[in-house]
Amino acid sequence: MLLAILASALAMSLIVGVRYLIVSGAFAAATRAKHPGLYTGLSVQMRREVAWSLASALIYGVPAGIVAWGWKTLGWTQIYADIHAFPLWYAPVSVLLYLFAHDTWFYWTHRWMHQPRVFKLAHAVHHESRPPTAWAAMAFHPIEAITGAVIIPLLVFLIPINIGCLGLVLAIMTVMGVTNHMGWEVFPRFMWKGPVGAWLITASHHQRHHDLYRGNYGLYFRFWDRLCDTDKGVGDFVKAHAQARLRQRRGSGGVAGAAGRVGDE
Ligand SMILES: [Zn+2]
Ligand SMILES: [Zn+2]
Repeated sequence: MLLAILASALAMSLIVGVRYLIVSGAFAAATRAKHPGLYTGLSVQMRREVAWSLASALIYGVPAGIVAWGWKTLGWTQIYADIHAFPLWYAPVSVLLYLFAHDTWFYWTHRWMHQPRVFKLAHAVHHESRPPTAWAAMAFHPIEAITGAVIIPLLVFLIPINIGCLGLVLAIMTVMGVTNHMGWEVFPRFMWKGPVGAWLITASHHQRHHDLYRGNYGLYFRFWDRLCDTDKGVGDFVKAHAQARLRQRRGSGGVAGAAGRVGDE
């Protein structure tokens, strides 16, 4: 039994790790194509981001693996396979419930981790990325990784969800974790400006959290930030992209690019 749980945890770690490498790798490649020079001079930082992220993947796999094992062998959790087990309208509602619950958990644990003493111990690692890149999605200290790793495995005991909808939640989680850090907006303008953007979090919002070190603590929605008066609005990438173009002109990569970044800071 212990061996089966261990195998399940390892399999989950592997899935999370490979998923991270594929999604972050794809968006890092898209960044090179769309904004060449944006990550110039950040190779040491990006290597650190990958190392922390893969360590986080190992941690994420443990609760996920235990719950997956219990689901398969003991019928744990409220995950259901037949979409008709609940009324169809519940499927999109369950996805929103998961996103909102995750967002709530993230907002409050994230705010807690910005208490000076906790920050130094648990969250400074994530903010060492200046500016973060597509590889920073899971660049967390193990303590922060644990807070992130337990929430979905906990929710599946509390809120019924179809297995396909759970896959969608995990896909949204992965894509938002990467795109929120990659230094440019991949989403259409309405998602970060205007009445819809006023309630959603994308790169323009989270990048400002990394710039200011305070405020904009949310993950998917601006609900808690707005309610608790911690919303600092959305930033833009105009300056960063102008600097990237300048670095690119000075000579792509190499010493000139790195020197350009140091000079710019
Ligand atoms: Zn933070
Ligand atoms: Zn971040």
